[in-house]
Amino acid sequence: MQKKVLVIEDSRTAMNIAVKLVEKAGLVPVPAQSLTEAQHVFTHSVPEEFLCAIVDYNLPDATHGQAIDFCLESVLPTIVITGRMDNKTRSDVLRREVVDYIPKENAQTYDYLSRLLVRLERNKNIGVIVAEQDRSTTRAMVPLLKRHNFTTYEVNSAEETYRLLRENPNIKLVITGHEMEDQHSTRLIANLRVEYPKERLAIISVCDKNNELNSARFIKSGANDFLLKPYCHEEFLCRITQNIELIENVEALTSLANTDFLTGLFNRRYFFDRLSSLVSASPASHAIAMLDLDHFKQINDTYGHDAGDDVLITTARLLRQCLPEAIIARFGGEEFCVFMHQTAPKLAFKKVETFRRTLEQQFIQSGESSIKVTSSIGLITDLKADLSECVSAADELLYAAKTNGRNRVICDIPEVTARLATTT
Ligand code: GH3
Ligand code: MG
Ligand code: MG
Repeated sequence: MQKKVLVIEDSRTAMNIAVKLVEKAGLVPVPAQSLTEAQHVFTHSVPEEFLCAIVDYNLPDATHGQAIDFCLESVLPTIVITGRMDNKTRSDVLRREVVDYIPKENAQTYDYLSRLLVRLERNKNIGVIVAEQDRSTTRAMVPLLKRHNFTTYEVNSAEETYRLLRENPNIKLVITGHEMEDQHSTRLIANLRVEYPKERLAIISVCDKNNELNSARFIKSGANDFLLKPYCHEEFLCRITQNIELIENVEALTSLANTDFLTGLFNRRYFFDRLSSLVSASPASHAIAMLDLDHFKQINDTYGHDAGDDVLITTARLLRQCLPEAIIARFGGEEFCVFMHQTAPKLAFKKVETFRRTLEQQFIQSGESSIKVTSSIGLITDLKADLSECVSAADELLYAAKTNGRNRVICDIPEVTARLATTT
């Protein structure tokens, strides 16, 4: 369900912008023009439906941030927007446990608000380790991270850091102090880098201002960034956000580079990158199927190219549904390759045969048309150490399936082939 955002703002212009930004973030704005209206609206709503509140510091019936207090008392993560940017207002805002504050200055600051809203929603799925022995530093950081919806883990040993990372793939950031119980932080960082590259795990080191040399040491050991103590609230959050965003951008690019745009399946390059070494290390007990749709050109010619695309999308969906554990790639056109990890030959046959039948029986809706399509499949279960050779072998069986009348699975399992020969 789409989460709601309570927007308390008396200026019409600022309200309009905030409402648009909330909608753009895929959230539902709930507007209120005064504290009184906000209290009324909120008491008649379900609190759990709200992601956060955006609150004007100065409202006609709450001139000194009382609306912020109301939201915080209602356990709503609160983002403050303010027209005043003097030091007194800033410290008055930051004294409270707000997520962040945004000056109503220019388009850039509204862009910041927009990113913040997206972050609050996404951060729920991101883990952050605070690896720090100094309790006062941890006490300052953890509540801030929590306010931004991160899942936080506090540790004081390198050992625990490694364990948490192994157990929680959602962890994307480690913030580390100078020294751990069992290891100096530069060692910890260097060790982490052996397994986790900078694009997968961000590491931020926190060091004292009076020992600036440390910051260079940390960066050289593999940290992405550093913070000099004392740092301000804003700097801390900006550094965290920038580093997390960098990792997410790399993830998004990697995923784009590895997937086929139309079907969302993996592409051929990813298939080979990921599986070549696995197959050469242990070729036994896996299975590979090559699959090609029958007379697909006719579908394009009869129903049009868009309908052809719908057939490809449905084929991909049924493949995922019938083979949920397999690694499936679209090799190009209407050709797919399926890798079944540690799957016994007969079970592999049963699975691809189930897919073949499911597709055969499916009516694929595209506009006004209802389309039927079949597939030919070559399956090999006796794998060689070379993945290309395995794929070629599956392709040969696929070719045999085509020349033997299409809409069938041909495999290298003698018992199955013999059984099929007697039933047809
Ligand atoms: P066979 O049973 O022998 O496999 O015959 P076929 O018609 O399926 O095979 P052929 O290789 O002759 O035709 C494949 C067609 O797939 C030709 C090409 O235009 C079409 N095609 C390739 N990629 C796409 C795509 O992304 N979308 C659509 N709609 N068609 C595509
Ligand atoms: Mg074809
Ligand atoms: Mg083809």
